Amino acid sequence: MDEATRKKQIAYRDARVTGNYEGIWQSVGKCVFCDLKDDYILFEENGVVLTIVLFAYIDGHMMIIPRRHVKSVKELTPLEWETMRKFMYIAKKLIREVHGIKGMQILQKDGADAQSTVEHLHFHTIPFDAPDLTTWNYRQLKNTPLENADLYKAKHAEMVSLAKRFDKKYSDD
Ligand SMILES: [Zn+2]
Repeated sequence: MDEATRKKQIAYRDARVTGNYEGIWQSVGKCVFCDLKDDYILFEENGVVLTIVLFAYIDGHMMIIPRRHVKSVKELTPLEWETMRKFMYIAKKLIREVHGIKGMQILQKDGADAQSTVEHLHFHTIPFDAPDLTTWNYRQLKNTPLENADLYKAKHAEMVSLAKRFDKKYSDD
């Protein structure tokens, strides 16, 4: 590996802790997941790839990404979805084999408020050995569990209609 490549790799490795992540990320400008580099791809089947993460949260962090630029799981074909499920299994086994960690967290952010710059669907598969990576800033709730249930139950007719709409629009059956 030449010196320039080595330096770049170290910059990727340390970007999350040096605060350089935002700067590097903003300069990309195109969909990075439509343009995956072969060096980082670990496995591929049925238009779905298992890849290492450039800006990992922890060593061993991988991603499962469909080649097609889709925004949401609802747009996946049954074969792509089944392949992603298979890759989650493979990722978990690999993490245990390579890093000796028996836990894995699967993370996917959906929707405009959750996705940052990348709208291309991707699942993070993150080794999980201690909760330090996922410290939630819990909020004071307004509602009890039953009150929260009632808010959604009041939308039962809408749920039924959404289920029908999904079947019509996104299901191949
Ligand atoms: Zn894309």
